[in-house]
Amino acid sequence: GEYTASKTRYQENDNTGFYRRCGRSGLKLSSLSLGFWHNFGTNDNYENMKQMCFAAFDHGITHFDLANNYGPVPGSAESNLGRILREEMNAYRDELIISTKAGYDMWEGPYGDFGSRKYLIASLDQSLKRMGLPYVDIFYHHRMDPETPLEETMEALAQIVRSGKALYVGLSNYDGETMARAEKILDEMHCPFVINQNSYNILNRTVEHNGILKQGYISGKGMICFSPLAQGMLTDRYLKDIPADSRVLRDGRFLHEDQILSTRPLLLKLDEIAESYGMSLSELAIAWLLQKKEVTSVLIGASRPEQILKNLEAVRKHEKAKLPEEELQKIEEA
Ligand code: NDP
Repeated sequence: GEYTASKTRYQENDNTGFYRRCGRSGLKLSSLSLGFWHNFGTNDNYENMKQMCFAAFDHGITHFDLANNYGPVPGSAESNLGRILREEMNAYRDELIISTKAGYDMWEGPYGDFGSRKYLIASLDQSLKRMGLPYVDIFYHHRMDPETPLEETMEALAQIVRSGKALYVGLSNYDGETMARAEKILDEMHCPFVINQNSYNILNRTVEHNGILKQGYISGKGMICFSPLAQGMLTDRYLKDIPADSRVLRDGRFLHEDQILSTRPLLLKLDEIAESYGMSLSELAIAWLLQKKEVTSVLIGASRPEQILKNLEAVRKHEKAKLPEEELQKIEEA
C-alpha cells in the first residue's frame, strides 16, 4: 500500500537548527538534502529508490534535488521521482522542496543545451511532465553560458516564476562575479533568486577562490553544497580498496580509479584526523561544511537508505559538538 511517513519526522529535529534559512529568504531547507544524480536512473532498482526517499523524509529531509539530465537515461530520475510521488508520497507534496535544473546537454540540436530562453522554458515543461507536477519549488540554471546574454537567461528564469512553473530560482556552478551581475538583473524583475548550488567539500575549494561563497553570503543567498563527500571519496569506501558495489565500479562516468589512487594518501590522513576526534571521515566531511555560516544545506547522494541514516547521524553529532579550531587547522594543513 501507499507510504505513510513517520509521525516523529519533525520532532526528531526539534530545537536543533536542522532547518536552516536559505540566505535572507523566507525558505528554510533541511541541513541535509538528497540528490538524484546517481542511483535513480533507468537501470537502478526502483524499490531501493523508494526506500531512500522514505528514509530521508521519515527523518526530516524535506529537499530532493534533481536536474533534467539525471539518469541515465537523461530524464529518468525525474520520471522515477514522478512515479514515487504519484504512487507513494502524493500526500506529502507540500512538505517537500523539489528542485530541477537545465543548462547541460539534454537533447540533440541547438536548443537542448546551455542558457537560451528557448531551452530553459522547453526543458522545464518537459521536467514538469516527467515529474507529474504543475510547478517545482526551485528551478536552476545549471551552469554559466559564455555565449547567451545573461539578460536572456535571467529573463527566462523570471518568466518561469511569473508563469507559475517555479516558486524560486537558483544558479548552479556560477562564479561570484557572474552571480552578482545576474542578481542585479533578477532584482530589477523582482525575481525570487534565493540560492546558489556549487560543489564544495574538504577536497574542492573552488567556491572559496571564485568569489561565489563570499558574494552569495553578502547578497543574502543560500548556498547548497553538492558532492559534500567528494562522490564518496570522503567516506570509508575507498580507504582500503575499491569495492565492487561502489560508484567507481558501478557507474564511473564521473569518478575514476586513478582519482582514488592519487587521493588516497590524503584521504588516509583526513581519516586519522576524523578518528582522533571520534568521528568517521564522512561525519567529518559533513560537519566541516555545516560549521560554515555561508552553508544552508549539504546535498548528499546515496546508493542505499543506510547511508542517508548515517549521514543524518553526522548532522546530529555536529549539532552536539562543533569541530574545534585545532581540528579545523589540522584539516587545512593536510
Ligand atoms: P556525495 O559527495 O554525497 O557522494 C555520494 C556517494 O557517496 C554515494 O553515492 C555513496 O557512494 C557515497 N556515500 C554517501 N554516504 C555514505 C556513507 N555514509 N558511507 C559511505 N559512502 C557513502 O554527493 P554526489 O556526488 O552524489 O552529489 C550529490 C547531489 O548533488 C547529486 O545527487 C545532485 O543532486 C547534486 N549535484 C549537482 C551538480 C550540479 O552541477 N549542480 C553536480 C553534481 C551533483 P556509493 O555509490 O559508492 O555507495
